[in-house]
Amino acid sequence: MKADNIATRIKEISDTLPCGVTLIAVSKYHPAEAIMQAYEAGQREFGESKAQDLVKKYESLPNDIKWHFIGHLQSNKIKYIAPFIHLIHSIDSYRLLQEVNRHGAKHNRKIACLLQIHIAQEETKFGFTPEECMKMLCDGEWRTLENVEIRGLMCMASNTEDNAQVAKEFSKVQKLFKNIKENFFADNENFNIMSAGMSDDYPIAIKYGSTHVRVGSSIFNG
Ligand SMILES: *Cc1c(COP(=O)(O)O)cnc(C)c1O
Repeated sequence: MKADNIATRIKEISDTLPCGVTLIAVSKYHPAEAIMQAYEAGQREFGESKAQDLVKKYESLPNDIKWHFIGHLQSNKIKYIAPFIHLIHSIDSYRLLQEVNRHGAKHNRKIACLLQIHIAQEETKFGFTPEECMKMLCDGEWRTLENVEIRGLMCMASNTEDNAQVAKEFSKVQKLFKNIKENFFADNENFNIMSAGMSDDYPIAIKYGSTHVRVGSSIFNG
């Protein structure tokens, strides 16, 4: 039987997650009241994909919520979220990382970021290819950015029923993560986040090392 409300669905999903995996409730398109139902069930991490929507919700909701930015981030929108954002999942160019760094400096913060990796078959998705990501890291200039901290990788698998394809993509990112960890962050315990998996594929993502699942419709749309 399907749970009939947000609180129950949050609990059901949380109960299936191994320890060490964080549930981010993706509340984009859903009003503050829906978020409060999740909050009252104990949920504290929420993801949004539009900067202005996120700011409005941040301002009207309890301040112990950790807000995750998961959408495509335009440089001119960084200023809205820079003062308080918990984690930006969607760094897809070195230029954007530099811009986030600049805003981090203004607010005297070190903003936690993930590098988004493009692995899906769809051309429309954003992110570094694995090769571009390695090249950016090898170049080393990112080490001079004092107001951002690269905490890990984020990815979205192809939107397909073909679970073998989805598994192949997550596996590729898991290998990339290990490679990057060994080569660039071996002595940095903060490089420890792999944000992978959504409503339809998070159980597969967890098998391939996801530490943060981003679940929207299974929580908010019933
Ligand atoms: C919307 C969205 C999600 C959640 O997707 P669901 O299929 O609703 O669980 C996760 N990650 C990103 C980047 C999204 O834009």
